[in-house]
This record gives sequence, structure tokens and C-alpha cells, in this order.
Amino acid sequence: MSAQTRLFMCRSDNFGVLLHDPKTGATAAIDAPEAAPIELALQQTGWKLTDILVTHHHADHTDGIMALKAKWKCRVTAPAAEADKIPGVDATVKEGDKVKVGTLIGNVIETPGHTLGHIVYWFHADNLLFAADNLFSVGCGRVIEGTMDQMWSSMQKMNDLPDETKVFCGHEYTASNIKFALSVDKGNAALLARASEAAKQLAGGQPTIPTTIGEEKKVNPFLRAAEASIAANLGMAGKPANEVFAELRERKNKF
Ligand code: ZN
Ligand code: FE
Repeated sequence: MSAQTRLFMCRSDNFGVLLHDPKTGATAAIDAPEAAPIELALQQTGWKLTDILVTHHHADHTDGIMALKAKWKCRVTAPAAEADKIPGVDATVKEGDKVKVGTLIGNVIETPGHTLGHIVYWFHADNLLFAADNLFSVGCGRVIEGTMDQMWSSMQKMNDLPDETKVFCGHEYTASNIKFALSVDKGNAALLARASEAAKQLAGGQPTIPTTIGEEKKVNPFLRAAEASIAANLGMAGKPANEVFAELRERKNKF
């Protein structure tokens, strides 16, 4: 049996997600936005929390750690570069390290930009990516601590993952991301299709994720900054992709 996931909402717009290894019973929470909804998901699935895999230090990803740790004695893994800002850390990881959730193996990829130490977890054999506030569905995280060039490099690392990779991100921002994307990529048929799909999902109270890397390559302007059509729409024809990316991110901030 392969990896299982459970997706649910936390706080106002944070996604919570559990990753479960049926072979061993090991279960990881990807980040801990809030303890109560994570506890509820554990109760509903009957899974027992063994791990918390933290992506970055922001409170909306770490506030639930200590309450969960007190109850489950779970192991908390966090990015080495931000471990001093995250409570309850047992193990630190950096680029190229591997994490284990039972028999499931995740690769740590450093994705600086949103924060300087932000990491994502890629479970290659299971085609799962936990991207938190780096890559969103049809968007990307705000560049708060890092530089635009760092964030663009982080986007390219996501672009290099296999198309079939399922992407779980940190927030339900898809609707506003689509509005922005349509403003810079009007003629994109795949984006229009995604807009109507997401509208249906949200109207039905369903999450708009997981998405896939292959889908994001078609609809996410922040992954498509090297496309001539995007540069042209911004009046930046012929400009390098990193500059187009920075302009997209600036415009999104003001959108
Ligand atoms: Zn964040
Ligand atoms: Fe966040």
C-alpha cells in the first residue's frame, strides 16, 4: 500500500495535511497551523501522530506544535536555518537531506524567498510535494525575507519536479491567485478551464488542491515567467525571466 493523505482546513485559510504510511502506521502532520483540527483529523482517520514536518517558522505553520507534541510525543523536524525560531524541534534538515515517515521517504528541498530557511518536502516515490508557502496553486508565496532572485530559483526547482507530482500547498488562495493570473495571462485556455473548475470546487465547499506540477506549469504565472507571452503581456518582451518574475510578484502584492 502506498502513502495516504488527509487534507483539511485550519485557522481561516491554512491547509492542514496528514501523511500516513499504512505499512508502519507512521503519520506526519505537514506543519502544525492549529492543534484542534489536526487532532480531529487524527480522530477521524484513527491515525497516530508520529511526526511533524515543519516547512518554515511562521506562526500559522507552527502554533500547534507544542500541544501536539505534549500529547503524541511526536518527533518535530524543521529546517536547520530556522530551528531557533521554531518550538520543540528534535531534528534539523537541510538541502539534500532525507526524512522518513515510517517507510515513506521525503527529500528536503531548500526554497528560500518567502522566508530565508523555507523548505519543501518531496516524497518522490509517492509523487507528493508539500510546498507550504513556496508554490501555491496558481500562485506563489510572498517574498518576505529573501530576494526575488532567490524566490525565482526556488520556483525553478519546483518546475524541475516530475509533472505527475501532486502538490499540497499551505493556503487556500486559489481564487484570488486565479484572478491575478487572468490579469497577466488572459489568452491561456488551460487557465480559463482551471478557473471554472476551481469556482465549482469552492462553490461545493471543496478544496482546490492537490494540484500537480504539470498543471501548474500550464496555469501558474510564477512558474511561467520565462514564457514570451507573459513577458509581452507585462510590456517586458525580451526581458530575462527573473525580472519578469519579480514584476509579477510586485504586481500581485498590489493586486
Ligand atoms: Zn508563511
Ligand atoms: Fe503561511
